Amino acid sequence: MAENVLIRIAVIGGGVAGATVANALFQLGNMDVFMYESASEFSERGAAVGLAGQAQLALQQAIPLAQELLRKAGAVPMNSSHLLLGSGPAAGTVIVDLEDDGSCEVIVHRASLLRELLAPFPQERLHASKKLIDITVMEDESLEIRFEDGTSDRFDAVVGADGIFSSVRNHVLGDAAAEHVPTPAGFWDCRVLVPFDKASSTLGKKHFEVDRQYGWIGDGAFIMHDILENRTTIQCIISGVEKDPPKNRKRPLTREFLTDILGTWLDGPIAKGAIDLVLDQPDPQGYSQWEHKSTPTYANGRVCIVGDAAHATSPWQGAGAGQAFEDAVVLGTLLGKITRPQDIGAAFKAFDTVRRPRCQRIIDSSRDTGEVLCGVKKAVALDPGKLLGALVDRWTFILTFDLEEHKREALEKMEEFKMSLE
Ligand SMILES: Cc1cc2nc3c(=O)[nH]c(=O)nc-3n(C[C@H](O)[C@H](O)[C@H](O)COP(=O)(O)OP(=O)(O)OC[C@H]3O[C@@H](n4cnc5c(N)ncnc54)[C@H](O)[C@@H]3O)c2cc1C
Repeated sequence: MAENVLIRIAVIGGGVAGATVANALFQLGNMDVFMYESASEFSERGAAVGLAGQAQLALQQAIPLAQELLRKAGAVPMNSSHLLLGSGPAAGTVIVDLEDDGSCEVIVHRASLLRELLAPFPQERLHASKKLIDITVMEDESLEIRFEDGTSDRFDAVVGADGIFSSVRNHVLGDAAAEHVPTPAGFWDCRVLVPFDKASSTLGKKHFEVDRQYGWIGDGAFIMHDILENRTTIQCIISGVEKDPPKNRKRPLTREFLTDILGTWLDGPIAKGAIDLVLDQPDPQGYSQWEHKSTPTYANGRVCIVGDAAHATSPWQGAGAGQAFEDAVVLGTLLGKITRPQDIGAAFKAFDTVRRPRCQRIIDSSRDTGEVLCGVKKAVALDPGKLLGALVDRWTFILTFDLEEHKREALEKMEEFKMSLE
């Protein structure tokens, strides 16, 4: 019987994807895992992230103490969700009431989620201020990775979790990388966190009587607000269609710009308050949403990409983090079954085969959902009946996904690839 070898693996990037993958692989017992982050500390910018039931299920498989981890991160259950019209004469009409969908979504502050995802991973294996600049495939197929600080190290495998502008992605795609860079998805957004009392008095107390997420669909824009951190904080988001993406991916937000974008909303129930909350922030900015429109592969030999490095998506279906968790589950399932570095290539190829169609479908569906929610999908526009028809089943393929079957398919593919690579 072949002797089991400890496989040395580097996870590049210490965001939500990197932290989840590193934990999932470390607990397998056959992986010697190290994580490298370019920033001087492991931290997460941005406001909140919504995790639907499917995302929590995947996180639980990647990290068994997930529910405890989410509790420590201050995750708040989102008991119900209303989608309403925000502009025009019918403003205030409820389009979809997701009160009873049973999806058990939670909303969690991004920085708190990352803090708790990093906590179970051995701290001596976390390395900050380590920016990967190059990967070289050696004669024996091991990988030498070089960092900007002049240091280098050898690994049997590399997992790139280094975000939308990933360097590992460039290595994986090789000559095809230039054709598959991230591009604007066609929308911008601005997210602010505001104390509960201030938000409820500015947006209207009746919207805060129950812990509910509100999404306001309207002419060329979408406004959302939800409750965080034990009803102490509100996240308010204004998003809009973007025709002229700024080169540096952000634009300063002024009253003139926002009242122009939300001109047809101003007589309605929500826009004026949302504008006031955003402009009350120091230096408010709108950020372009970027995505990977297509990616020819997530794997090349013993290097693969996960999370936003592989499949950055616009946020309209709230599925990016959930996809990173599913990546971690599938990688853990595959790598847990290998006993020698020679089989890493087959495992990563199987990962690519099963994960890419799923993630690509979400990227395309999410962009389309943005068009519907901003009222610019031609066949739907702002017609309440058509909006209901366009939205009601939109999340089903994400939320009712059979992860067990996905893992089984991945293992089957790996066996096929192992035989063909022998
Ligand atoms: C506005 C917005 C809203 C979202 N809302 C939701 C939501 O509601 N629900 C949901 O499920 N998902 C949501 N997402 C998506 C989700 O946040 C991401 O998909 C998820 O966090 C995975 O990110 P990541 O770890 O792959 O990348 P990142 O968070 O970008 O992490 C990458 C890390 O790699 C590091 N790095 C980069 N280059 C290098 C290098 N060369 N060497 C070493 N380290 C490097 C970076 O510093 C960073 O720490 C949203 C995303 C955005 C942008």
